[in-house]
Amino acid sequence: MKKFAVIGGGITGVTTAYALAKRGYGVTVIERHRYAAMETSFANGGQLSASNAETWTHPSTLLKGLKWMLRQDAPLLVNPKPSWHKISWFAEFIASIPRYEPNTIETARLAIAARDHLFAWAQAEGIDFDHRREGILHIYRDRKGFEHAGRVSRLLAAGGLQRRAVTSQEMRAIEPTLAGDYYGGYYTESDSTGDIHKFTQGLAAACARMGVTFLYGQDVQSLNCGGRSASVNLDDGTGSRIESFDAVVVCAGVGSRALAAQLGDRINVYPVKGYSITVNLLDDASRAAAPTVSLLDDETKLVTSRLGADRFRVAGTAEFNGFNRDIRADRIQPLVDWVQQCFPGVSTRQVVPWAGLRPMMPDMMPRVGRGQRANVFYNTGHGHLGWTLSAATADLLGELVSQGARPAGDRLAITAKPSPVEAL
Ligand SMILES: Cc1cc2nc3c(=O)[nH]c(=O)nc-3n(C[C@H](O)[C@H](O)[C@H](O)COP(=O)(O)OP(=O)(O)OC[C@H]3O[C@@H](n4cnc5c(N)ncnc54)[C@H](O)[C@@H]3O)c2cc1C
Repeated sequence: MKKFAVIGGGITGVTTAYALAKRGYGVTVIERHRYAAMETSFANGGQLSASNAETWTHPSTLLKGLKWMLRQDAPLLVNPKPSWHKISWFAEFIASIPRYEPNTIETARLAIAARDHLFAWAQAEGIDFDHRREGILHIYRDRKGFEHAGRVSRLLAAGGLQRRAVTSQEMRAIEPTLAGDYYGGYYTESDSTGDIHKFTQGLAAACARMGVTFLYGQDVQSLNCGGRSASVNLDDGTGSRIESFDAVVVCAGVGSRALAAQLGDRINVYPVKGYSITVNLLDDASRAAAPTVSLLDDETKLVTSRLGADRFRVAGTAEFNGFNRDIRADRIQPLVDWVQQCFPGVSTRQVVPWAGLRPMMPDMMPRVGRGQRANVFYNTGHGHLGWTLSAATADLLGELVSQGARPAGDRLAITAKPSPVEAL
């Protein structure tokens, strides 16, 4: 049996471990935290959203970005201090603008494929993750935003997703708790929401039942892969040691870039910080006043999920500020204000703030495939859609490893010239 080291115990690492274990491989997940899903896969927006497949590489993002840079409470914040990482990332972002349409279509396809795997795995393993299948409603305050959404809908339809335009009256019927005046919306009935942390924990437990080893509290300091064997240098805080495997899969979120560089690959993931608040719904009035349908407010770029009866999650904002994980009060306040405006009956007495770093590729497409060396693989760079896409990319990786099958489309390949394809 071939032995794989999967580096990272977030959603991408644990789904990858599951996809490989199901195919009969020996798998060890190495994670620096004490538990699975403690970094970006901890308290995200919760949306399993094919309807949010639009990549950000649209020319209008640049204009909006420049406008937003002047506002402290804007959805986007860029620390102007230059770094090579940031400059190279933005240069590649701009270079990817011509691929906005095909990448959006491809992402929609992947997101739809991911649903089948994720739902089947949750059912097979009995994972409760507060899954709610009430659709996602995109809301627009003006005609311009609504008309852009119409154009996006055509791209999503090319990827296989149906969503329908709804009037402001229909919006109220879909989610009666939403206050405010809206121009219109788009409703995607087939989208859903759930708690990424609970799911990842549940799938990690299922992996362990299948024989996957989890090495928690172990930091991967360095990697050495010769094509047929891989040695991983681990540090548990008391000292380092080397473990040997046949192959490695890098699923290290924002840590993937540094690990890839050691392996001769370039994965230009930038840590794009986002924030969430979890509003604890402490009383009956708040529970009744909070939405059950998931929302995406296109103007403020905020997304919401109702997690069980008692929790309401609101997430968003994009901050380009390196590996800074600080939870800034001035970035959290707009989220609380938004809840008070849109859901005035919800008490915001108990709000739990959080910040996470999205592992974002400049073209917004995850990297799934082989590295330069034949026994190095990647399933990383899922950016703002890791929860939505991971089950599909993990399955693609499993197919690549076991069948030698290439992931669909060159856009997902991580090297310009993939190494000869052979099953492991
Ligand atoms: C505010 C916010 C809202 C979001 N909302 C949504 C949403 O609604 N829907 C959606 O689909 N996506 C959403 N996302 C994106 C999604 O959460 C991420 O894409 C996803 O969690 C990334 O998973 P990952 O496994 O790549 O990274 P992580 O969850 O960060 O996992 C990587 C793991 O690798 C470990 N690691 C890294 N380096 C090493 C090392 N050297 N040694 C040992 N371990 C290492 C880390 O400790 C970490 O646990 C959101 C993100 C944010 C920040």
